[in-house]
Amino acid sequence: MKVWVNDGLCRGHGVCVAVCPEVFDLTDGGYAEAIEDDVAPEFHAAVQEAIAACPEHAIEER
Ligand code: SF4
Repeated sequence: MKVWVNDGLCRGHGVCVAVCPEVFDLTDGGYAEAIEDDVAPEFHAAVQEAIAACPEHAIEER
């Protein structure tokens, strides 16, 4: 599973970081990024939760 945050949509709410800090982080610019874009199986469920919870629909799975 690969995951990516669309910079153009992210508004930096940090919901994704709260749900899955092992995969998402907020940059100094205030937007999220995927620390691990190739997500380990144990975090797949949390990433799916973050995708569903993102208010801007900025997280994409590839
Ligand atoms: S929840 Fe969505 S909008 Fe908020 S920081 Fe994460 S990716 Fe960005």
